[in-house]
Amino acid sequence: MTYSTYPTGKVRTVTGDVSPDSLGTVSAHEHLWVGPSLMTSLEPEFLLNDLERTVTGVKQFIHSGGKALVDALPLIEGRSARALREISNRTRVPLIAMTGFHRLKYYSGGHWIHSQSANELAEILICELQNGMDERCSLGPKPVPTDIRAGALKIATEFHHVPNRTEVLIEAVILAHHATGSPIMIHIEQGTAAHAALDLFESHDVPLEAIMLSHADRNPDRVLHKELASRNCYLGYDWMGRIKVRPDSVVYELISELTTAGYANRITLGLDLVRRTYWPSYGGGPGLQYLFGEFVPRLRSFGISDGDIQLISATNPQKWLTFRAPLNLPREK
Ligand SMILES: [Zn+2]
Repeated sequence: MTYSTYPTGKVRTVTGDVSPDSLGTVSAHEHLWVGPSLMTSLEPEFLLNDLERTVTGVKQFIHSGGKALVDALPLIEGRSARALREISNRTRVPLIAMTGFHRLKYYSGGHWIHSQSANELAEILICELQNGMDERCSLGPKPVPTDIRAGALKIATEFHHVPNRTEVLIEAVILAHHATGSPIMIHIEQGTAAHAALDLFESHDVPLEAIMLSHADRNPDRVLHKELASRNCYLGYDWMGRIKVRPDSVVYELISELTTAGYANRITLGLDLVRRTYWPSYGGGPGLQYLFGEFVPRLRSFGISDGDIQLISATNPQKWLTFRAPLNLPREK
């Protein structure tokens, strides 16, 4: 497979550009590799760096009916473009990697993301999307591109607010979106500050159907979700299988409410299994196979139609991940 400069109408995987409908069912938020980093020193369970165990988990995902995966680790220490490509090559699973920025607390105080201008940051993101992801995990000072390209942009807001520095990072993501047409994932902390984040993108002419709000279901407020869906963004439901915290019936009822209101075309699914304790191959659960092996089939008993299940499982994430024609707005100084 090959890469084009502008993959308009295509999905960009770590092995090349593909047509959206070739993906099939998609888990739209997962973590397949997290190397030793500041993030894993803060959260030791995030360390996912055993290739054999990860490949075993991805094979279980495929066996359960899953077809494609999004790795949601952006440009940060611990991401490995080469590990993602090897996982994709060994399992034949189409894998979409990310650039962009995680929560500010996962970068050291002296890290360049705290000081670079939006234009400088955008240059790096565009390089990651068009030339290749940095193999030095953002440790810099200058990125060293691999030949493996990111297929989406990510940004993270905070609990009930968007910090000033995050606004600069969002500006960089907006510039990179307009230069490339890349899809965007917004990590909304505990499902909050979603309208505020969307407002920032909308005020800079980013079409909201290019955006998926990840972790929306951590705040399973059906009134809020219908408001957000009416703005034409995607709502990422990616916290299923957390039985210690809540039963999955919360999400089934939310999906039932949204589909009844006509918003089946706005939902994507994932499991966000970032802790090794979530993986059977690392000795835990529920495992990647839970999504299409158990959660999705059970949607039928909640009255969700096969057509809506097809939208939520496949068509919606395929559309979200498709590159749009770049706008190429002139850079502001
Ligand atoms: Zn995640």
